[in-house]
Amino acid sequence: MQDTIMHDSTSAANKAAVAVFTKGRKRTRQPENWKQTKSKILRNSGKSYINSKNTITKARQLKPPCKDTCRLRCFTKINSVQRQNIFDTYWGIGDIHNQRSFIWSCLTNIEPKYKYTNALAPRNCNKAFHFIVNGNPIRVCKVFFLNILDISDRVVRTVRSKTDEHGVLKTDFRGMTCNRKSDEVLISDIKEFINSIPRTDSHYRRQSSIREYIDGSKTIVDLFRDFEEVQNKKISLLENLMIKVTKNNPFSFFIKESYKQQNFSEVYVRNRRTKMLPLNQLTLVKAYTGKQELSENKKKIYAS
Ligand SMILES: [Zn+2]
Repeated sequence: MQDTIMHDSTSAANKAAVAVFTKGRKRTRQPENWKQTKSKILRNSGKSYINSKNTITKARQLKPPCKDTCRLRCFTKINSVQRQNIFDTYWGIGDIHNQRSFIWSCLTNIEPKYKYTNALAPRNCNKAFHFIVNGNPIRVCKVFFLNILDISDRVVRTVRSKTDEHGVLKTDFRGMTCNRKSDEVLISDIKEFINSIPRTDSHYRRQSSIREYIDGSKTIVDLFRDFEEVQNKKISLLENLMIKVTKNNPFSFFIKESYKQQNFSEVYVRNRRTKMLPLNQLTLVKAYTGKQELSENKKKIYAS
């Protein structure tokens, strides 16, 4: 057993070493280093974290118990040290599923003396809240329960809705959906990019082959980087208020995205990866030297 663990850790170390050397060629996913993962760990442990909107979310902290008017007089049953212990235990779990299971274990059904029944949509049973202190379940009010854990009512409602009649808690699927619309946009961008790569003739190509060939000087990684560059450059025309083109900068256009924007920002469109002649060595040729020839289709339309 010991040996296996040793072996695993050395191979992991080797992998890390390899990753350092090959950096820049092909890097492996390291989700544990992602900002999102780090925030998730902090969030689930009740610590302060930066959320997806880049704002700082405060750390969870033990809130004051219920008022002394509470019918259950919870504050007399569980002292401040025990409250802090419960709080630390809950946030020490650090995993949403197990935290929900913990909450579920704190709930018990209250059998009401009178109950309105509706066979089609039976009402959910009311729940009582308990904490286990020194091995004994101690009933507390909802305010006390929520304040000790520093959670909202919503967390409890989620637990109730996610637990079936056998007490089985559904797995958390957060973050597992895919954004279909942006995926579609991305796929169409990928197709467009692939189609934009110039095709070359292959000497070995058979007449009947439908295979297409591209210039072999680029590796897949190069192509991927080109694609990324195109994606970063992609600017929606609808979002821009003003577009300016100047004679001196034929490889750029200038945009203003709002009326507040003082100066134009430059969008450089020349492919930096392809070796191209500097501007002063280029001889510019007029794209249209004369009146443009109408297409056969247009001619027919104008003739009729
Ligand atoms: Zn109370």
